[in-house]
Amino acid sequence: MRDPVVVVGGSLAGLRCVEQLRLHGWTGSITVIGEEPYAPYNRPPLSKDALTRWSSNSPGRWAEIVALRTRAGVTDVSWRLGVSATRVDVEHQLVHLDDGDPIKFCGLVVATGVRPRRISLPGPTTGRHVLRTLDDARALAPRLFDGQRVVVLGAGFVGCEVAATAAAIGCRVTLVEPGPAPLARVLGCEIGAAVGNYQQSKGVRIRCGRTAVAMVPARSGGRVAAVALDDGTEVPADVVIEAVGSVPNVEWLDNIGIDITDGILCDRNLRAGGRPNIVAAGDIARVANPRFDDIPRRIEHWCMPAATARQAAASLASHLTRNSLAPASFAPLPTFWSDQFELRLQSFGQPFLGDAAHLVDGTLDRLQDGAIVHYTRAERLVGVVMTNIPANQQRVHRGLVDSACPAPEPDLATSQHSGAPIDQP
Ligand SMILES: Cc1cc2nc3c(=O)[nH]c(=O)nc-3n(C[C@H](O)[C@H](O)[C@H](O)COP(=O)(O)OP(=O)(O)OC[C@H]3O[C@@H](n4cnc5c(N)ncnc54)[C@H](O)[C@@H]3O)c2cc1C
Repeated sequence: MRDPVVVVGGSLAGLRCVEQLRLHGWTGSITVIGEEPYAPYNRPPLSKDALTRWSSNSPGRWAEIVALRTRAGVTDVSWRLGVSATRVDVEHQLVHLDDGDPIKFCGLVVATGVRPRRISLPGPTTGRHVLRTLDDARALAPRLFDGQRVVVLGAGFVGCEVAATAAAIGCRVTLVEPGPAPLARVLGCEIGAAVGNYQQSKGVRIRCGRTAVAMVPARSGGRVAAVALDDGTEVPADVVIEAVGSVPNVEWLDNIGIDITDGILCDRNLRAGGRPNIVAAGDIARVANPRFDDIPRRIEHWCMPAATARQAAASLASHLTRNSLAPASFAPLPTFWSDQFELRLQSFGQPFLGDAAHLVDGTLDRLQDGAIVHYTRAERLVGVVMTNIPANQQRVHRGLVDSACPAPEPDLATSQHSGAPIDQP
């Protein structure tokens, strides 16, 4: 029997790759290696409902509540959970594991995502949290209750969401951000400031343009009691949540000659280093989107694991079988959402590429009543961000971005697979 396709990373991108490999005709065996002990689960609830509603549940119950639904056709996949890949030997097609014998592969899918960036600061570590995994959320949830003083470092999406969730629980929350406004990198300063004003109207204190320089210890017990900022002030804290970005999980691939600076550099078929039997998907994949430009980027939004998995699995299956064709081009229309108090932000396209933002509906003073912002680059619409806008209206604006940044025509001449075929098992 032929060696399996090995998928490293047992989360959203890993699961979607498994499903897509089957859809694209790979009938051979598949083994998933996942560092976390849980079946694939959904991360978005971890900064939202999970922290408010589920704090008393057991680990198993948490995992059930956020579990991702698996589609039919993947029941024969072998899942090795609680196991990490440590190294790859491309010559012998082996993945080395931290629990014993290496595993041989005919095709390798890299879906190892990212982990939270940690800040190196003097002072105690007890009381400091990050939020990426189910275990992170389980550790944090019991610490969030009425009256707790919470300092969130970093006002990106995870920081803004967890600040809102903690404040809604009754915590006294301070959000510290070195940039000029919350979410400024993605939404721009003006819209970011409007989100900040909305958060402040809900009771979150915002300290923009400030950086944490130390954790101040409690008199006894070794816990954090405050966060010292670069202006000499101290913000009292029972809990500190660090949401200052992410680091791609690439170290296990550093010996195989592929570009792993900021994720795995991929071609348009999601192949790594031009190798037809190694593909990447999800938060870890750095790939260009020709709708916008030719610069490879990693996009950490929930929609990307499915989009990249579709392409990665198609190209891997086309290499491993004689039956299928690699898809012609990779040009998804990115989308994300974010929930903060009663605000639902929804985006299509790549607003962060814009050089100008135009409010086309609503008012920035009352985002909760509905607002629509178009982002243009050199006067071309590249993204839209909406707050509390009904789905039918969202579709209209999605369509505008889709037309302004169309997917390129399929290039049939180069869409067929170019790797040497391997016989079906
Ligand atoms: C708290 C939170 C809230 C979010 N909310 C939203 C939202 O509202 N909207 C939105 O659009 N997006 C949101 N996202 C982003 C979205 O969840 C991610 O884009 C998505 O989970 C990425 O999936 P992935 O499979 O690529 O990576 P991950 O989910 O990070 O999975 C990678 C997996 O690989 C495992 N792994 C790593 N290294 C190894 C190794 N060496 N061997 C074996 N396994 C390994 C990891 O343990 C992990 O299980 C949120 C993310 C977080 C953390």
